[in-house]
Amino acid sequence: MSPRPHFLVLTFPFQGHITPALRLARRLLAAAPDALVTFSTTEDAHARMFPAKSSTAGLPDGAAERDFDGRLEFLPFSDGTGGGYVRSSDPGAFNSYMASFHAAGARSVGELVDALAARGRPVSRVVYTLLLPWAADIARERGVPSALYWIQPVAVFAIYHHYFHGRAGVVDEHRGDPSFVVELPGLAPLAVGDLPTFITMSTDPSDPLHSALTTLRNLFDTLDREIPQATILVNTCQELELGALAAVGAHDVLPVGPVLPSGDEAGLFKQDDAKYMEWLDGKPANSVAYVSFGSLATMAREQLDELLLGLEESGRPYLCVVRKDIKAELAEANAEIDDRLKNGMVVEWCDQVQVLSHAAVGCFVTHCGWNSVLESLASGVPMVGVPRLSDQSMNALLLEREWRVGVRAEVDRGGVLRATEVRRRIEEVMGEGKAAKEVRHMAGEWKRVIADAMGKGGSSDRNLMVYMEGARNGI
Ligand code: UDP
Repeated sequence: MSPRPHFLVLTFPFQGHITPALRLARRLLAAAPDALVTFSTTEDAHARMFPAKSSTAGLPDGAAERDFDGRLEFLPFSDGTGGGYVRSSDPGAFNSYMASFHAAGARSVGELVDALAARGRPVSRVVYTLLLPWAADIARERGVPSALYWIQPVAVFAIYHHYFHGRAGVVDEHRGDPSFVVELPGLAPLAVGDLPTFITMSTDPSDPLHSALTTLRNLFDTLDREIPQATILVNTCQELELGALAAVGAHDVLPVGPVLPSGDEAGLFKQDDAKYMEWLDGKPANSVAYVSFGSLATMAREQLDELLLGLEESGRPYLCVVRKDIKAELAEANAEIDDRLKNGMVVEWCDQVQVLSHAAVGCFVTHCGWNSVLESLASGVPMVGVPRLSDQSMNALLLEREWRVGVRAEVDRGGVLRATEVRRRIEEVMGEGKAAKEVRHMAGEWKRVIADAMGKGGSSDRNLMVYMEGARNGI
């Protein structure tokens, strides 16, 4: 009998990375009843996920939390900082965090793999999300195969692949011209403004997000070294991205998503106590606009004012997430916000998948983080996209042009989404016009396609089984 497969799932400590990684971990456990998973993120994120149990107060062997009858264990690694990444006005904050994360993280994960082996729970596969390319080196040094878990669309993977393989020049030359059209092998022509911002922003090392670009470059160099061994699992399904899947060079890419929650999920944010699900229960079907810009985006006061005004003027009920840290930055008291709400409800954090699954929700005004887009697609909720950073413009383009499940809102020169635009775009997906009806129809169609892909025998289910079989047979 072959030994039990044991996956070490490693992730960067952002909510948008932890969420899909944890969902994949649970999916691996459900797919193979004898499999083990160790889930690992940084100490600080781990402590936020399990506030009642610090790692030192954990189980005797160091795991702070267990699930699946002990088949899933949570063990943190060190990023070399006392308190994790803290957003600050210092423009070098992210780059210095990344330097520490890479150096200390690689050391600490190596020690973790060795400690698990010493404990009689050796790792047989390493699975890592996008900002820790050194995970592949640690695995290789120990003779353990690794898989990258790409948590953005395949189209974005293909763009980076071509950028780092000979096409950087044309992008660099036109970085100041968002309407310039770039042709990349296998992909439809793309405007520079639709490309991931990490390749179109300044390449100056003093840029506040420069280390994101260098980390991605390291990742693609690492994948090149690993061919043909490296597997790339992607949180998408092949029906959504057939064209892009043919544009990824020699890589072995397996779409296994969209991986959705199965049960409660530990996360970095505390749920708002407000009774938002009961509030939704009282609203007619498809009547509510849900609004969230994810776990990282900040918001200036002017933006919040315009947003709430536009939502009020839409004449439709709305549920809007304004995170606690944003309120604190704006020194905005709950009462001040509540005073402005006639037709809506503001929460600090909600269970987004549950909200999107509620029959009352008829539209999602989103920053187009990939998790949010997938969750909306899987629930059949049409979107108004307001992209800003990273892959979000490309995601907005995909949802508007490829899948036709939403529209993209324009911001003004100062980057502010104006109230009139909020109102207009919501009407474009929730109204009675022909285009709005078509968007709603397409959202329903894609919901079915995704359910099939993730269901038993569907494309993503089969791809996960292929990966599982390989892991079991040591391939
Ligand atoms: N999310 C949530 N409650 C909220 C807001 C967001 O559960 O009130 C979740 C959302 O379901 C998604 C994640 O946070 O899984 C955000 O990830 P995404 O990739 O959309 O954006 P990011 O936060 O990385 O910018």
